[in-house]
Amino acid sequence: MRACVLTGTGGKLAGNLLITDVADAPVPQAGEVRVAIRAAALNHLDLFVMEGMPGSALRFPHVVGADGAGVVESVGAGVTAVRPGDRVLLNPGISDYTCEFCLAGEHSLCVTYRLLGEHRPGTMAELVTLPVHNVARVPVLTPELTWAEAAAFSLVTLTAWRMVVTRAQLKAGETVLVWGIGGGVSLTALRIAKLLGARVIATSRDDAKLAEARRLGADVTLNHRTQKVSQEVRALTQKRGVEVVVENVGEATWDESLRCLKRGGRLVTCGATSGPEVRLDLRRVFWHHFTIMGSTMGNAREYAEIVRRLGEGQLRPIVDRVYPLAEAGVAYERLAKGEQFGKVVVEVCP
Ligand SMILES: [Zn+2]
Repeated sequence: MRACVLTGTGGKLAGNLLITDVADAPVPQAGEVRVAIRAAALNHLDLFVMEGMPGSALRFPHVVGADGAGVVESVGAGVTAVRPGDRVLLNPGISDYTCEFCLAGEHSLCVTYRLLGEHRPGTMAELVTLPVHNVARVPVLTPELTWAEAAAFSLVTLTAWRMVVTRAQLKAGETVLVWGIGGGVSLTALRIAKLLGARVIATSRDDAKLAEARRLGADVTLNHRTQKVSQEVRALTQKRGVEVVVENVGEATWDESLRCLKRGGRLVTCGATSGPEVRLDLRRVFWHHFTIMGSTMGNAREYAEIVRRLGEGQLRPIVDRVYPLAEAGVAYERLAKGEQFGKVVVEVCP
């Protein structure tokens, strides 16, 4: 099958990426399906995998890509939820459904949790084999979801949903600060916050992206390159700060995030695109009753809920650009430069 693979990690950006033929994804076993991928979407995760993650034990060539959508090609024994020919979305987080966390319904806390494209062969290939738990039928929408939109849906929507709804429990009337609008998780967090009736302050270093954010419902936008975010947030909230901060930047924004937080506020983080090491003055945490919470992906119930919402016309993915498979390297570069507004997608099989 045709695939985009890494031949190694840690080198120059496009240097380790190769479009080539590799062995077909395995024939599906009991409880598995094999999907003919139409489109795959990029996430920051893909950049981290390319750079080389600590403790990672990739076998090369490694098929990249966590997000994808396509058509069920074949199914293993006992699979009744989907049939060959069904159009499906892929949930990239693979759980064993047997450990105590899975049995408690927390599949993204699974002790053997694995992601497509990170620990397992990914979606930027003509075929992917995965558990039937990890596919959901593409909802019927008008206008119909494009393959690019379908591929762009799962990872960021699931991540943002769990962060904002399950973890931070953002409520109507509260104010949330969302850093770096333009990135998929931040954009989706903004849209979920508006669905919940919250007030959103969004930041970017790019005024054009801020204008787009306002069009999507952001109440206030701040340019974090030219404005001191904590000062502006204080001014906008009668010096109180915001109830919730949605973080995925890490080192570059952490201190400011805490300065923006109201007493009793909640900070939820799912990433560290600028670096993972931050300083934390514990006195500020206990004195102000801050809650700092981590979040990764989401469980099966949350995934079913976001697919249901998609079917109701909510949270339709925003696609930045679509590249043919042959130009996957260019797609990676666009993401690495942070130029995108919405998801960068690669068409695997037009
Ligand atoms: Zn488990």
